[in-house]
Amino acid sequence: MEFYKKILENNKKWVEEKLSVNPTYFARLAEGQQPPLLWIGCSDSRVPANEIIGAEPGEVFVHRNIANMVVHSDMNMLSVLDYAVNALKVQHVIVCGHYGCGGVKAAMGNSSIGIIDNWIRHIKDVYRLHKDELDAVENEKERFNRFVEINVREQVLDLAKTSIVQSAWKNGQKLHLHGWVYGLNSGYVTDLNVNFSSNEDLDEVYQLYFGK
Ligand SMILES: [Zn+2]
Repeated sequence: MEFYKKILENNKKWVEEKLSVNPTYFARLAEGQQPPLLWIGCSDSRVPANEIIGAEPGEVFVHRNIANMVVHSDMNMLSVLDYAVNALKVQHVIVCGHYGCGGVKAAMGNSSIGIIDNWIRHIKDVYRLHKDELDAVENEKERFNRFVEINVREQVLDLAKTSIVQSAWKNGQKLHLHGWVYGLNSGYVTDLNVNFSSNEDLDEVYQLYFGK
């Protein structure tokens, strides 16, 4: 109960602080949003999107789930992506994974945790795709880190495969996809330099053609 009371108090303090600097702070925000960035990150409490990049309210549209997955049948993710790209016209989408990710760790093991097993399975699919590379890393911690990085790359690729992103590119919309990994013990992010800017960067089977 202490914690619960504290967060309500924190909210009041936060509002007062913001208003003391700028009396129209919330009135301005209420007018609308035009964030330049969509963040797809992990639900992990230690990876707060705004804080890490020093973003103010209004600057980043956020979607988070376990292990920052881009699952092509996930209506939640697709709706967020569609709104971000087609309504808000974001120019950047960042998939941000993090070292020490519990979801990725679970995907390396075989224990059943519950219904989440079915979500984790998507991460296991990534392992299977990169089994040779991952199995070759003998040190378990290094293999775990590598898997986190590979998973981010794969999710950026999955973003590029979506009809939403391909359609935006076809229409000449500026849309840059990025893959990052956040270090829980350093606070720094590493840009994995996974860059796609056209559907021609995709395997042919994934390329979509629009219209005639
Ligand atoms: Zn995580």
